[in-house]
Amino acid sequence: MILLTPGPVQTHPDVRAAMDADVAPWNAGFRPVYERIRRRLLAIGGGVEGTHAALPLQGAGHMLLEAALRTFLPEGGTVLVPVNGEYARRLARLARESGREVVELPLPDTRGARADEVAAALAAHPQATHLALVQSETGSGIVNDPAAIGAAVRAAGRRMIVDCVSAFGALPLDLAAMPEVDAACFTSNKCLEGVPGFGFALARLDRLAACEGNARSWSLDLCDVWRHTEANGWGSLRFTGPVQALLALDVALERLAAEGGRAARLARYAASAARLHRGVAALGVRPYLDEAEQGPVVVTFHQPPGLDFDAFLQALARHGLTISAYWTTEAPTFRVGAIGCVGPAEMEGAIAAIGAALRELGLARAA
Ligand SMILES: *Cc1c(COP(=O)(O)O)cnc(C)c1O
Repeated sequence: MILLTPGPVQTHPDVRAAMDADVAPWNAGFRPVYERIRRRLLAIGGGVEGTHAALPLQGAGHMLLEAALRTFLPEGGTVLVPVNGEYARRLARLARESGREVVELPLPDTRGARADEVAAALAAHPQATHLALVQSETGSGIVNDPAAIGAAVRAAGRRMIVDCVSAFGALPLDLAAMPEVDAACFTSNKCLEGVPGFGFALARLDRLAACEGNARSWSLDLCDVWRHTEANGWGSLRFTGPVQALLALDVALERLAAEGGRAARLARYAASAARLHRGVAALGVRPYLDEAEQGPVVVTFHQPPGLDFDAFLQALARHGLTISAYWTTEAPTFRVGAIGCVGPAEMEGAIAAIGAALRELGLARAA
């Protein structure tokens, strides 16, 4: 079975094999591995030693995003969220349920947010100290440009939190040039091609020092993660962590370097996304996005009229393909991931499986 889901992703056998061990994280052998992981992640995001730190948090991306919102915004503080997809709505919900105020900037989910739209919204809402932005909107496949939008945030004298969960390791991020970013958040799976279990924030040390006490949570306080690192070293874990997921991530990061780094990975994903976009369109299925707006991470298609979605998923599974089990766009769609340890052969296989599944469901006109 091939996973073409925008998380969890298909992993390399070597990544999975790295998990075949029982390890106590305080053993000497693990600490340097974990230190290396944190250094490598900082470098991938363009972070600067002494200015930024790679702060870990066990669990899913949602937990890390909540931790970042709690840590960098005080209770009652206001965050502006450009809402052009499901993951932006989730950011807004995480902030609201943490007792932060949210101003939503509603935008179409078929294109990236523009810097001028964000600048106007920031000007209209001076109470918003922060902007929270999804870099790759996994709900539809569009991409928001954190560098361009960050420039507007910087010009307005505000701060920024970036959800890079489905972008980090593939799409560009240069924190050295983005002093407005308090934290960029991502997980061990998705474009890093590890297994789920861990999140990381690349966070500014000066902002951590200024934000002590905001979080009103011990588990979700990135300041506490930082204090723990200061006291116990870069190779130490706060609480019991999925050590096996970190061992897998170490191998996954080695594979990323061997592939040629972030830009090479982006090129592979972009080629896969373009192949899917065109190949499934050629079956008579309408892509949700114009090709110009199509990001490299996930490709979304309108459901052909009359499609029984569950039967479609089951038919795809019979052909060895797992795609996302739900859609979040206004119109009914289905989503196929272009990320993970997959390439042209898997894309051709996926296009063939989708065509076969549609024919089996009697939607031969679409197929
Ligand atoms: C997957 C994803 C998340 C959530 O990550 P989980 O690990 O599922 O909690 C958040 N934001 C984006 C953009 C994502 O793609």
